[in-house]
Amino acid sequence: MLILVVNAGSSSLKYQVRDTSAPEAEQMLTSGLIENIGTDVPDHEVALHMMADKLKDVLHGRELQAIGHRVVQGAEKFTHPVLLNEQVIDEIDALSPLAPLHNPAHVKGMRAAFHTWPDLPQVAVFDTAFHSTMPEHAWRYAIPYDLADKYSIRRYGFHGTSHEYVSHVAADMLGIARDEFNGVVAHLGNGASVTAVKGGKSVDTSMGYTPLAGLVMGTRSGDIDPSALTTILTRDPEIDAERLDTILNKESGLLALAGSNDMRKVVESAQSGDERAQLALDMTAYRLMKYIGGYNLVVGGAQALIFTAGIGENSGDFRKLVLDRLAPLGIRYNEEENMKRSPEPRLISTEDSSIAVFVIPTNEEKAIAEATEELVRA
Ligand code: ADP
Repeated sequence: MLILVVNAGSSSLKYQVRDTSAPEAEQMLTSGLIENIGTDVPDHEVALHMMADKLKDVLHGRELQAIGHRVVQGAEKFTHPVLLNEQVIDEIDALSPLAPLHNPAHVKGMRAAFHTWPDLPQVAVFDTAFHSTMPEHAWRYAIPYDLADKYSIRRYGFHGTSHEYVSHVAADMLGIARDEFNGVVAHLGNGASVTAVKGGKSVDTSMGYTPLAGLVMGTRSGDIDPSALTTILTRDPEIDAERLDTILNKESGLLALAGSNDMRKVVESAQSGDERAQLALDMTAYRLMKYIGGYNLVVGGAQALIFTAGIGENSGDFRKLVLDRLAPLGIRYNEEENMKRSPEPRLISTEDSSIAVFVIPTNEEKAIAEATEELVRA
């Protein structure tokens, strides 16, 4: 099936066309990015037309058969991919208070796609859906029930499509059923989250009500005592809630600690003796170690630890910092295999390791295309 995968953000539109019936290596037919929506490109409708024009050139008359949209926030309403219609789009729009930067943009992308391709089936695939299996003791925050209910405040978790996809690959590599897989998945990109997977299902994850929680990330603080924030808000007249939100999401993390949110640069700086860069790496690896150790208990003993996304897939240096801290769990790995670069899923642990360690390239577009096809065929 020829499927267009769309990731509509507030100022950009990423797309990929995939042929799910082609051999694995030939499935991706084209991909692209349209930027500066709202400035150079007036709106999502125009961006979609630009994309449609580009697609005509590369598809040579082949017709798209379905569209899959990535959606960040599905909340409790959407626990599985869903076929879109006007009512469902309104429901996704209604979740905008929970993802003000993302869901409104997704909805604009969906409406524009329906205008351009009114007869094509369209599917939404949610970042939160994989985490809908978390038990209440993992997703609930210890705040008054009425307040949590009033604002739908709970842990939702994100990157679900990626966590699920690489878990499946790992189960296949271990030769076990996907619903028998117990492991810990570290998705380490600009945004980063770690998930405890038990019986193939998410049972806990480090991101929370929003993608700000958990690990130290490129520009996000991750976990911080909320009192620090109320202190800043009450004592600093220059910083209001909106500004603080920007600081925590865009000016913190590696960028604040080491002056760059690019892991390559931070590693280079640390290697040439920059103490702040080294501290940033230590803090980032240390916090991830704590999550992995905890989640190993959460899943009742992990069969595997998976590294994925930009840093997880490409930075042997960062993986080493994490893996060396996990030695007390009996994790052993091959230093040379760890430093190798490869686009293939691979095992980097040694035979005597208590837990298998995999590096598995994620592919959210592929997962979205497959989910779209499955729903459209059904
Ligand atoms: P996003 O969350 O934006 O999808 P990615 O998964 O593309 O992010 O990851 C981006 C991160 O991956 C950046 O911090 C970048 O520095 C890091 N990265 C990419 N390639 C390498 C590499 N070769 N070595 C170290 N880090 C890398």
